Amino acid sequence: MMQRPDESVVHGSRAGQTAQPRDLPSVDRLLREPAVQALLAEHGHTLLAGEARALLDAQRAEVIGGNVLLDDVVLPVLSAKLQERVQECLQPRMRAVLNLTGTVIHTNLGRSLLAEPALQHMLTMMAGPNNLEYDLETGARGDRDSIIEEMLCTLTGAEAATVVNNNAAAVLLTLAALARGREVIVSRGELVEIGGAFRMPDVMESAGARLVEVGTTNRTHAQDYERAINANTALLMKVHTSNYAVQGFTKAVSEAELADIARARGVPLATDLGSGSLVDLASYGLPREPLPQEMIAAGCDVVTFSGDKLLGGPQAGLIVGSKEMVGRIRKFPMKRALRMSKLPLAALEATLMLYLRPERLTQDLPTLRLLTRPEAQIRAQAQQLLDAVAQAVAPRFVVSVVALQGQIGSGSLPVDRLPSAGLAIAPVQKKGAGRALDELATALRRLPLPVIGRIAEDRLLLDLRCLEDSAQLLNQLPALQEALA
Ligand SMILES: *Cc1c(COP(=O)(O)O)cnc(C)c1O
Repeated sequence: MMQRPDESVVHGSRAGQTAQPRDLPSVDRLLREPAVQALLAEHGHTLLAGEARALLDAQRAEVIGGNVLLDDVVLPVLSAKLQERVQECLQPRMRAVLNLTGTVIHTNLGRSLLAEPALQHMLTMMAGPNNLEYDLETGARGDRDSIIEEMLCTLTGAEAATVVNNNAAAVLLTLAALARGREVIVSRGELVEIGGAFRMPDVMESAGARLVEVGTTNRTHAQDYERAINANTALLMKVHTSNYAVQGFTKAVSEAELADIARARGVPLATDLGSGSLVDLASYGLPREPLPQEMIAAGCDVVTFSGDKLLGGPQAGLIVGSKEMVGRIRKFPMKRALRMSKLPLAALEATLMLYLRPERLTQDLPTLRLLTRPEAQIRAQAQQLLDAVAQAVAPRFVVSVVALQGQIGSGSLPVDRLPSAGLAIAPVQKKGAGRALDELATALRRLPLPVIGRIAEDRLLLDLRCLEDSAQLLNQLPALQEALA
């Protein structure tokens, strides 16, 4: 049979020689390869032809650049490359990972893990239509806030509640709705930056409110607020300094004290809690965080907090407070742009419901379950995993069980540490240890289920607090061993 020009690909006599552009097959020829036909049947023409074209374009550029051997552009090699490309492009960019950093609520790793009932409720609600904004009693249009309002009021003692996308949005909306074009008084000790370019003074400006700073970095007194209040004051604001602590000669005005001033002067008081645990963490032996319900009881008119920090739910900004203030916030047009979608709303509803049975929370809520895992249990787990991990990283690395200090994370309780345990992996050779550690960290990140640890003091540390199922790590070890070989 005559060989068509575009099939002039296999040349025994030229093997080992440099490829020329004309040695590359056409897209059609590549698609006719039996191995590629199987891919075509599975994924269809659009994806395969697109990837084949991109592959051949890339190969052509390389061939023109020289130094590509003829053997590298034969059809079996190209169809294998095409298969790789197709697999790669169907691999989601968002991947599950193992968080062994020791930081439980890790913002870069997706913050809180959803509880099983939240996942189930979300699935059920997303699989078909639901009553997101439909009143099943009357058949009239409903309000999506009503899905969670009653429960949030029960849990916090507030008169009213609404939710938006995240707490940054909750703060922005609160300021815009209550203080646009007017003044907001905040202590200089509370002008926080929470990362990701969210700085209280900037948020204030975005909301169109004028920031009036009072007091000093370390000390702010009641009179500082009193003196700053005037006819143009729209709001007194407290911000929980969730990601830092000012220690030493300090003074802040409590919400209760400030609420008295606010009431006497006819100005509302808002508090941004950031993380907002709905249960007292101290009762689990964890560091204490202020609770939204305490803020309401203290007399705050509006309290904002996150859904995916200590609450352990989806990304959300929860706003609770008086009927009047929450009503104004809800009616403000920006609310429509910041409203929560049905997906996290379903997750939030199911998560809040867990709080109706607080006795079960340390079992039912993953965030609290991880935060309360006993150190001894984590250490025992490290001991059990020691040999298998040591074997996988030998002979270049040695592994030991170590005591570690973890963190709650997400800006919560920055100065408190969580006593934990895990594995420390150290290079055997002191020379080139830094490079060996980087290589190890890279190999861990490239595993099918990427393992994220942290490097400290010339060791790679795997804090096991967040590893509830040892098999998840054990299953990665063969691939790790291969990568390090
Ligand atoms: C985290 C935090 C926010 C922002 O909350 P997100 O839910 O991340 O948008 C706002 N204020 C404070 C004090 C915070 O700690």
